[in-house]
Amino acid sequence: MMMFHRIFYLLILTVALAAANVAFSNGEDAVKYCRLCKNTGKIICKIHEKTVHLGLCSYRMDFPCGCLGLGWTVCDKGEELHPKETAAAREEADRERKALEAFLDGRRNLYDLLIFGREFEKEHIQHIEGEHFKEITTVRGDKLFKIPVSPHQMAHLYMFRCEEAFTTFAGMVEAPANYQPSPYGKWQLLMWSTVDQELKASHKMVGNTQYPLATGNARLLTICPFKPDSNNREEAIDDEENFHNVIHNMVHIMFEEWGGFVDGCFPWWFYEGSSHWVEYRLFNRVLSYCGGEAAKELVARDKKWETLIYKLAIESKDPPLLSMSNMKMQDLTFNHRLKSWSIVDWMMNTGTKKQFIEFIRTLKRSKSEGNSWRDGYEIAISEVDAKWKEWALVMYAPRTILKLEKENEARAKAFVDHQIELIKSLPQ
Ligand SMILES: [Zn+2]
Ligand SMILES: [Zn+2]
Ligand SMILES: [Zn+2]
Ligand SMILES: [Zn+2]
Repeated sequence: MMMFHRIFYLLILTVALAAANVAFSNGEDAVKYCRLCKNTGKIICKIHEKTVHLGLCSYRMDFPCGCLGLGWTVCDKGEELHPKETAAAREEADRERKALEAFLDGRRNLYDLLIFGREFEKEHIQHIEGEHFKEITTVRGDKLFKIPVSPHQMAHLYMFRCEEAFTTFAGMVEAPANYQPSPYGKWQLLMWSTVDQELKASHKMVGNTQYPLATGNARLLTICPFKPDSNNREEAIDDEENFHNVIHNMVHIMFEEWGGFVDGCFPWWFYEGSSHWVEYRLFNRVLSYCGGEAAKELVARDKKWETLIYKLAIESKDPPLLSMSNMKMQDLTFNHRLKSWSIVDWMMNTGTKKQFIEFIRTLKRSKSEGNSWRDGYEIAISEVDAKWKEWALVMYAPRTILKLEKENEARAKAFVDHQIELIKSLPQ
C-alpha cells in the first residue's frame, strides 16, 4: 500500500513537473514563435496555397487576397520575431510585383494608351501573356456549363483555347511547338466587352472598323461578343458563338502569318474553307464565317456538311473549283463554302502534309492557285474536281456516313468534355 502511495506520489510529481515544463517552454516560445507564419515570414494564402498562379498576368496585381498568386503574403505583424525571414519574403514579393508592373506598363504604353488615350484607366484593361499569344481583355465573367467563370478565368480560358487552335493549325502545316509568329513575336488577341471598345481598338490597331471584329497583319485579332442584328443594332452573342468566332479568325491569322504575310495570296475559297475545316473538326458544326452572302443558310445548315456536299456532288451540282478561284469573299454562297470546306477535308485526308505545305508555300510565292496545285499536288487545277469527287463520293457515301458521323460526334463530345475540364482547372 505504502509502495503504491509512493509511486502514485512520484507519478503526480512527474506529471506536475512535465506540465510546468510545457508551460515554461510555451511561455518562452511564444516570444520567438510566430503563429501566423511559423517563422517563415510568409503567411499562407488559402486561395492560392495549392493553386499558385505565376506568369505574366495583370489580374494577379488585383487579387483581393493580396498574394499576387504566389500563395503567401509577407508576415509583417511578426516581423520582430523573424526579421530576416520577413525581409526575404518582402524582397521576393517586391521583385514579383515589380516584374508584373513592368510587364503591365509596357503593354499599357503600347496598347491601352494608343487605343484609348490618357483616360485608358477607365476601361479597366487587363493583360496576360502565354506561349504563343498575348491577350488584352476587358472580357466579362459568365456561367459556362453551369460553372461560374470570373473575368480573370475567362481571359485564361481564351488563352488556352487559342493555344489549342495553334496546336491544331501546327498539326496541319507541321509547325514545331516552339514556332513563333515572326517577325512580330506572338499573336495578339484583343477581347472587348463592349462594341465601343472593339471599334476603337479595331480602328487604332487594324486601320479599319469591320464591325464587330477585325483582323490585321496576320498577328492581331480584335473581337467582342456582339454582332449586328438585322437592323444593325448590337446583339450579344453567347460564349459558344464567341469561341467559334475566335477560332475561325485565329485560323485565318495563322495561315496568313505562316511562312510570311503576303497580302491576297489565298483564294477566298481556301481562306474560308481552311477555317471552316478547323471549326467543323473541333465543334462538328460551323457557326462562324466572314462575309454576308451565305449567312442565312449557314445559320440554318450548320451541321452534317458531309451529307450536304455528297448530295451536291452526286447530282453534279457542286460549284466547279475553277469558278471559285477568282471569287470574292462576299460572293461565296453556302454551296461554295461547302465545297471549299470539303476540298480542304480532301487535302487533309488524302494528301501528305508535304503536299499541303507546298501548296501554301507556292500560293505565298506566286499568288497563283494553278501553280500551287501543280507544285503541291502535281495536278492541274482543272483535274482537282474529278479527283476530289472520286474521293468525296466514297468518303461521304450513305453506307459509310453513319460511321463517320458517329466518329465526328464522339470527337465533338470529347471536345466539350475537355472544355469542362479546362474550365474546372482555370486559375483562381
Ligand atoms: Zn510571422
Ligand atoms: Zn491570371
Ligand atoms: Zn492569394
Ligand atoms: Zn473567315
